[in-house]
Amino acid sequence: MSYAYDDQNIFARILRGEIPCSKVLETKHSLAFSDISPKAPHHVLVIPKGPYVCYDHFAHTASDAEITDYTRAIGAVCDQLGVAPGDGGNGYRMIANTGNDGVQEVPHLHVHILAGRNIGPMVLMRP
Ligand code: AMP
Repeated sequence: MSYAYDDQNIFARILRGEIPCSKVLETKHSLAFSDISPKAPHHVLVIPKGPYVCYDHFAHTASDAEITDYTRAIGAVCDQLGVAPGDGGNGYRMIANTGNDGVQEVPHLHVHILAGRNIGPMVLMRP
């Protein structure tokens, strides 16, 4: 596995405090903030603080502490938004766009949490 992390990407700059974000939640290893161009009433991005390009990079190289923290942070965001079905919420969609075919724009791992309306079909049906 070989990934080159670009530390000038926009989320790296947010993590360094060089540009602002609308913070939703912060933990030791993770940060959640509102997407600047929301596609749903709730549109939150959750990122690890470490330099990981995408999910498989993170899964293979992050520490157990980072992986646990990130997973718990995603759960905490769902709690905070009130969208977890187990707590009476109406659900959400979690997306991790990855690489060229996944149409990833920002090369720092992030999951999108979209909620607050029916998010519609999973993908455009184009084989
Ligand atoms: P992706 O295509 O999965 O890489 O998504 C990148 C997301 O980052 C898009 O939904 C953008 O709207 C969002 N985004 C880009 N710049 C910012 C920013 N400064 N603050 C918050 N979200 C951003």
